[in-house]
Parts: sequence; structure tokens; C-alpha cells
Amino acid sequence: MDAILTFHRLDASPDVLSYPKDAFPRALDALLEAGIRIVPIGEIVTTPPTGPDRVAITFDDGYASVHDVALPALETRGLPAIVYVVANHVGGTNRWGSQPDSVREERLLGQTELKECLAAGMQVGAHGATHCALRNLTSIAWDSELAGARKQLEDRLGRSVVHFAYPYGVAPEEARIRASAVYETSVTTRYDYLRRPLDLGAIPRLDAYYFRKPESLSRLFSTRTRRAVQLRRALRTAKRWWKPDA
Ligand SMILES: [Zn+2]
Repeated sequence: MDAILTFHRLDASPDVLSYPKDAFPRALDALLEAGIRIVPIGEIVTTPPTGPDRVAITFDDGYASVHDVALPALETRGLPAIVYVVANHVGGTNRWGSQPDSVREERLLGQTELKECLAAGMQVGAHGATHCALRNLTSIAWDSELAGARKQLEDRLGRSVVHFAYPYGVAPEEARIRASAVYETSVTTRYDYLRRPLDLGAIPRLDAYYFRKPESLSRLFSTRTRRAVQLRRALRTAKRWWKPDA
């Protein structure tokens, strides 16, 4: 089986966006020791799952800890990952307009750090221009959040940017159609393993928050974990039905 894991920050905060800093290298080792291959996003979504179980590692928002904590752990093990960055916030903070004031301000990766990530083998994808939810936008805003974000990052980094992550995982049909016209792959926050055939405009992921104990990742594809994933997904769907904006 295949799955894509979503991380945000790596630190000691109990926040849902934080994964324990010290647990991250152990999480990588738990996956590897279980015989799970860690592959790039492009590979996991385009090649059939015929061999051993596979995982792709993704980071949303582009927090500085991706460079400071995740990169050395990935680099020493020779492992790939992708970081999805908010084009207008490179070198800034997570104070995007839609962010409630209660969310702690965090430093995001700057251009030099992103280039170091690229040089060490990490990929960079786009996560919009301003991190606004992709729905009911004007045509100028659609353009700026999708094609504009891509162009801005490509100009800054001198690399092609072909992967996208929907801010807040908001991916209504219009967003999926528009994102698919600009990017090769677009990931959501829909909580699931990869199932074939795969819609490259709405790729599901598993939030690493639920696997904060590194050992739990060695059982990522076990029957028991698959049942737990299914149950959590059902609960999330019920919550959305009950409260559509949650
Ligand atoms: Zn985000």
C-alpha cells in the first residue's frame, strides 16, 4: 500500500500542527525498519504499488523547522520529502490574513533556506500565494493563488514547481480543475491512504499528528491502523456534515 504523510512544524509544542522534534528521526527509522520505502511524491502517485509499502513525506506551510530539524534527519538517511510553501510569505511568518490571532506567530523558510533544502534533495511545492482557502475567488485571485504562486517560486528558486497543496485542504471542484491546469499533482487533507485510480488533483494524505509515537508508523499499513484510519475518516466526514465550515 501507499500513503502520504503530512507534517507541519517540528517542535515541542502540543499544538496539532507540531510533531515532536526528537521523534521525527525516530519516525523515519521506524518506517525504514518496517521495510517501508520512502519515495518522492511524484513517484508514489504515478507508479503502481507493486513492491513494498511506500510513503511520501510532505510538510505544509514551510516552517523554519523543516530546514533546521527535518532536513538533517532526511539528508543523513538519503530520504526525499517535499515542502509546500506560501509564495508571498517566503522569509516571513505564518501571519496570513485568514489566520486567527490566537495562532502563535512562527518563522517561515527564507529563500536561502529553501535553496539549501533543494540542494540537499528536498523538493519545493506551492501552497498558494497568501494561504487563503481556494473557493469563491475573483479571477485575478485564482490566477495569483495558483499560476502566480508557481511563477513567483520558480523565479525565486530557479526550479520548476509542479506540486501543489491546497491551503486548509479546501478543494472544491472549481479549485481542483484550476489547480490541475497549473500543477501536476495537488494534495488535500482528505484523510486516507492512496487508492487507485488516483485523482492527481485531489490526493489524500494521512496527518502525522495521529502518529506522534514513532513506533506507530512501523504499523502504518497494519489491519488495525487501517481500521483506525477508516474510523477517523468517518468521524471527520460526520463532523463536516454536521458543521460544514469546520
Ligand atoms: Zn497550510
